[in-house]
This record gives sequence, C-alpha cells and structure tokens, in this order.
Amino acid sequence: MKFTIAVTQQCNLGCIYCYIFKNDAVMSMETADNIIEYMFNDTPKDEKLEIGFFGGEPMLEFEFIKKVIQRIRNHKAYNSRKIELYIVSNGTIFSNAIADELIRLGVSFGISCDGPSHIQDRSRVFTDGTGTSAIVEKNIRQALQYYPFLPVNAVYTPSTLEYLPDVVDYFYGLGIRVIYLSPNISAPWTQEHADMLPDLFQRIGKKYLDYYMAETPLYISLIDGKIAVIMRSGYGALEKCRMGKGEFAFGPSGNIYPCERLIGNDDGLSHCLGNINTITPLQIKCSHDAHNISNDLCQRCELNSYCMNWCGCTNYYATGDYNSPGPFICASEKASISVALELINTLGAKGISFSDHLAGTPLMSIIGEASKSFQVSTIAE
Ligand code: SF4
Ligand code: SF4
Repeated sequence: MKFTIAVTQQCNLGCIYCYIFKNDAVMSMETADNIIEYMFNDTPKDEKLEIGFFGGEPMLEFEFIKKVIQRIRNHKAYNSRKIELYIVSNGTIFSNAIADELIRLGVSFGISCDGPSHIQDRSRVFTDGTGTSAIVEKNIRQALQYYPFLPVNAVYTPSTLEYLPDVVDYFYGLGIRVIYLSPNISAPWTQEHADMLPDLFQRIGKKYLDYYMAETPLYISLIDGKIAVIMRSGYGALEKCRMGKGEFAFGPSGNIYPCERLIGNDDGLSHCLGNINTITPLQIKCSHDAHNISNDLCQRCELNSYCMNWCGCTNYYATGDYNSPGPFICASEKASISVALELINTLGAKGISFSDHLAGTPLMSIIGEASKSFQVSTIAE
C-alpha cells in the first residue's frame, strides 16, 4: 500500500510546470491522525506500507512532519520492517541538523532537480524568478554525505528533452548514483518529441554501459526499471499502478485522491474520492483498472506485459482517461524496453546476469558494501 500525505499546498518555488495550485493550506494534526488510523487499518498484514510526505514543498512543514512520524512510530500496529517513510523535496531546504533528524527518524530523502544550471534554472525557479541551481547543487552534495544513494528525480519538458544525456552526466559528476528521469506528464508532447526518444535513450544506454563497466554503475529508472521487469517476465499485479485501490493521496484538507498528481487545488471536486475526516474507508472507489487498459493497440502489442501503459495519472493527462495511454508514453515505453533488452544482451555476453534486479535490489551487488542497508526508493514528483 502506498500513501502520500500532502502536508501543505505552499511552496517557496514557482516551477513552470507545477501542477500544484498553491495556497496557504496546511494539514491539521486531527486530519493526520485520521490518515494514520486509515493507513494502518486499510493495509493487509502481509503488505508493506509506503508513506511519502509531499507538498507543495514538504520541508516548509518539517516540524509538523516530525510530529506525524512520531505518531506513526508510536502506533500500536507500527512495524519498522514493514514501513518505509520518505520525503521528496525541491532541495532548497536542507542542513546537517535536518539530516540528523531524518536519519534519527528513519526517513528516506529524495530531491527533485532537473539537471545543470542551464536546465534547472529554466524550469525550477524561486517565486521571484531567480534560479535554484546553486542552492540545490550545494544541498545535493551535502545530502549525499548522509544518503550516499540519494535518489534524484529530474523532470524533462519538451524544451529540455534533448539534454537528457547531459543530465545523466551532470548527476554522475556530482556523485549521484540513483537517477529518476520523468517527463512532465501535462506538457504538450508531439510526434516530433516522440521520434527523438529512441536516439536519446540509446545514448543514455551507452552511458549506462560505460559507467557499469567502470564499476561506478548508475541506477537509471527508465533502464533499470525495465531490466527488472524483463527479467521477471512482466509486471506483477502489485507492481502496477493501484491508484484508488492500493495507492491514495491526501490533500491538506483531508480530501482523498487516487494519486498525488491528481490533488490539483484540493477542492474536493476533480478526482476526489471523499474526505478522510467524514468518510468510511469502504466508500472509497476509483474507476482506474490497471488490468483493463482500453486501447486496442495495447491488447495486441507484444510489449504489453513490460509496458507502463497502466499509469493512471499519466494516461489521464494525455488522453483524459485513466485507462487509455497516449502516444508519447507509448513511444517512451518502446524506447526504454528496447534499450533495456540491448543492455541485457550486451552485459549478459560479458557474464553479467542481473540477478540483483530479480531480487529487487538493482545494482546493489556491484555498488558495494555501503549499499547493503540501502533500498532504492520510488519518488513521485
Ligand atoms: S517545487 Fe514542486 S510544488 Fe513547488 S513549484 Fe516546483 S513543482 Fe510545484
Ligand atoms: S508499447 Fe504502446 S502499444 Fe505497446 S503496450 Fe505499451 S502503450 Fe500499448
């Protein structure tokens, strides 16, 4: 089960592609308590519980988050082996004192950064329009001292797509080893952009190979995610998007949404499944069905079991239908599956079996001793 708690709609940035409607709303402790009860009651005993703190910028409300985490840890059903806590931040608020608190509370931390300054400062700016690259780069370097496998998420847009291989090099140079590359799902992607993907992903695959052979491998989401799925002969039922069934997001008001990307202005109208302060869990329903993708092409496609055509929010932004993928995600999935297959063959010929991917800990066998306590966290923004 995956739960995202958007503690605030406030943010100190004004990213050009932001899908959060910013306002002064901050979650109350009463709402957080109701969410905590719901999370523990609704998670089957044999399932892991992932709890992410989100915003706006969640670190603006770090004191509140600390209290919520303490209440989670004090809950009678709390089991540290079954619960993963994480925060995804814009990387502008960080310090040694914050890091010490995060480690003490057992919280994973991820930073959203789009790449070097000429990319980051194009999209991710403070509300007065000034760039964030200097402070975010400084904080990434600092965070890496506490989280050697700090996950970083880069959002790419139609105007920065061409630089994706440079983004990988930039992160590698900073010492980052876990990279998520995510398209801005609400951008006006065209066929021209889709046509660029095979070459761009091939170039990223070449870098992946070079870094792997140099024994400084990178986890790159669009490659390692696909290698793992191919090795396992397709996505398992629990790996697919379970929004509105095994995945929920809560706005500051307590409104319940199927996914954090659908909170919007938290008005309780679009996509809303109810409010945690008034609803009983059994009333929660969502029309998304990851096993019933309503696209004829997909049903005939030989890549179907390896494809993320089931991502409800991505589909919604592209086609207006949770269950129907758009052409850009189709092209992106084809390109990443192709690169992953090529790397399995190339590295397989060198005796590399990717058994770590089968075990669910991609690259951990080669990254080294320090990796043993590390789990790659999925980050959402
Ligand atoms: S950091 Fe996140 S919430 Fe803040 S403006 Fe950027 S995308 Fe929006
Ligand atoms: S690659 Fe395209 S057609 Fe094939 S399953 Fe994925 S979205 Fe559907």
